[in-house]
Amino acid sequence: MRDQWQREINYLRVSVTDRCNLRCRYCMPEEGVVWKRHEEIMSYEEIAHLVTLFSGAGIRKVRLTGGEPLTRRDLPRLVAMLKEIEAIDDISLTTNGVLLPQLGRELKAAGLNRVNISLDTLRREKYRQLCGRDELPRVLAAIDEALNLELHPVKLNSVIIAGVNEDEIEDLAALTLDRPLHLRYIELMPMKRRGEKAGEGVTSGEIRRRLEEKYGPLIPAGPPHGQGPAKYFRLSGACGTVGFIEPISDHFCPSCNRLRLTADGRLRPCLVAEMEIDVLTPLRQGAREEEILALYHRALQVKPMSHGMNGKWDPGGRSMHQIGG
Ligand code: SAM
Ligand code: SF4
Repeated sequence: MRDQWQREINYLRVSVTDRCNLRCRYCMPEEGVVWKRHEEIMSYEEIAHLVTLFSGAGIRKVRLTGGEPLTRRDLPRLVAMLKEIEAIDDISLTTNGVLLPQLGRELKAAGLNRVNISLDTLRREKYRQLCGRDELPRVLAAIDEALNLELHPVKLNSVIIAGVNEDEIEDLAALTLDRPLHLRYIELMPMKRRGEKAGEGVTSGEIRRRLEEKYGPLIPAGPPHGQGPAKYFRLSGACGTVGFIEPISDHFCPSCNRLRLTADGRLRPCLVAEMEIDVLTPLRQGAREEEILALYHRALQVKPMSHGMNGKWDPGGRSMHQIGG
């Protein structure tokens, strides 16, 4: 199914919760977060129902995200339900990793194909400061577990902030040298925290310059799995890859293949644009399937060609953990 700009939309990112067991500075305001009430959040049955409908309109891949998806009780049950949907051929998860050592095996058994784990620093104290909890050892164990369970390709997401973790750009890349890990540097999106910014991002041009200074020329590499917004390279002799995701400076909008479904059941055609279409309320009010599908088509129709964000972004009402980054 194509949107009005002829982009094929086959990928749905589903947020299963707005809650989280970390407090990353760039994602969540420190105080004043109002969590959605339990009854506002889609049940697993509702998620599976919507995904089934949307799979009839071309969705083939589903990524579970949040907030922290592993904080939602019994996530393997949802994975198993999605696995049952015939047209869905790929189920992935974006997680901070904290609970993955304990849940990984069950998720794999339920049908999870692969994971992305967020990791911004390899230093325990810095992790505690940046992410708000002393959880680095469990996140490192999560990476080992993801490799053991062959949740390939195992991707790592790193947000680099000037003066905070930019001194670890090279050490993070070194993780890809002898294991099949795919580390992506994600450009910091200027999420505001109560009038204050979480910091300044470091451009991928600068990250690349530093990597080449230490490791020599980066070798262009294909994406480890299908398409996506990252551009990938290999350090000389490395087993894995490094990638760059630049939502702001390098508009990847022309190849965007995704829609988002927030935990409270709104279709969000673009991460950045504030527009949302409520599909949960009509579902709960007993709307016919054609009516829900009409809303899905509407989301495709209004999906913007480009976010037009030029280094400035105030996402309005929602923080990243509420949108499902
Ligand atoms: N809790 C899970 C996690 O951290 O992986 C999933 C949700 S989190 C919102 C998804 C991704 O968004 C993470 O990789 C995180 O680093 C990224 N993210 C959050 N806030 C961001 C920001 N302001 N700029 C860039 N990336 C951000
Ligand atoms: Fe939680 Fe993920 Fe946001 Fe960090 S980035 S606060 S782990 S939702």
